[in-house]
Amino acid sequence: MLIETFSPQETFELGRKIGSETGAGAVFTLIGDLGTGKTVFTQGLAQGLGIREPVNSPTFTIMQIYDSGRIPFYHFDVYRIGDVSEMEEIGYEDCFYGEGVCLIEWADLIEEILPEHYTEIKISKDLKKGFDYRAIQLEEKGHR
Ligand code: ADP
Ligand code: MG
Repeated sequence: MLIETFSPQETFELGRKIGSETGAGAVFTLIGDLGTGKTVFTQGLAQGLGIREPVNSPTFTIMQIYDSGRIPFYHFDVYRIGDVSEMEEIGYEDCFYGEGVCLIEWADLIEEILPEHYTEIKISKDLKKGFDYRAIQLEEKGHR
């Protein structure tokens, strides 16, 4: 499914809607260049989960846990990861296969350990369509 947004607010709102409809065990992967809106989308999703505290990119920690929402939210940013053994060190399996919702920025870097089912979200710009235009491609991977 392709969703087009024309402002950061619209991308935030898409994240908020998805966050409000999702449940335990869901995994979202986010792929897109710097500045496309991964963090904006993530902040919306966090709000949809009922999280009140500010959400930023956990670049120096790989993962940040937010417990103030409806269910736990595990926010990964694997941009700086060396290899997947670092994911094992932080106990990613308890997050991927646990009671919360996972969102993984730059998930293409850890493709080999992604679960069988997840929702892939790709964000890209198209400057011909305007500076604030974003194409957001949602795709279900694997089977339920
Ligand atoms: P990333 O996390 O992918 O590096 P950010 O979410 O931090 O990107 O930044 C996206 C930037 O693009 C913000 O400054 C935001 O205001 C701007 N922006 C402009 N149009 C959009 C849009 N349609 N959706 C999301 N962000 C947008
Ligand atoms: Mg970011």
